[in-house]
Amino acid sequence: MNYAKTKPQNKKGFELMRDIISSLGGKWFRIMFQINVDNGDSQGNCEWDHPQGPTIRVDPSIPLCDVVDTLIHEVLHAQFRFLSEEAVLQAATEITKVLIDTEVITIQEERPDESIGQAT
Ligand SMILES: [Zn+2]
Repeated sequence: MNYAKTKPQNKKGFELMRDIISSLGGKWFRIMFQINVDNGDSQGNCEWDHPQGPTIRVDPSIPLCDVVDTLIHEVLHAQFRFLSEEAVLQAATEITKVLIDTEVITIQEERPDESIGQAT
């Protein structure tokens, strides 16, 4: 996903993300932020059959707009198990886009390298 208002790397923000337990689709889910979900193969996942109970995991080290997109994506999987991957993918990306474009959520750019060496 490429948005104008996103920062390229989410280096500090993920330290503020916290794991919670939330009711989704009538089940309690652990929502966890964990680097290297599926050994780095995915940005997130949703497991109903996790040994410790239904669990959503999102990699917090990816760009913040992708954290938002992935979290919405996995919550949609949790709530609507019957939805196709394509439907979940499209819905999550479009919801994220609307949230960012309307500035309901704000993701600030963090591009320290751009100002280096530029005359003002
Ligand atoms: Zn999916």
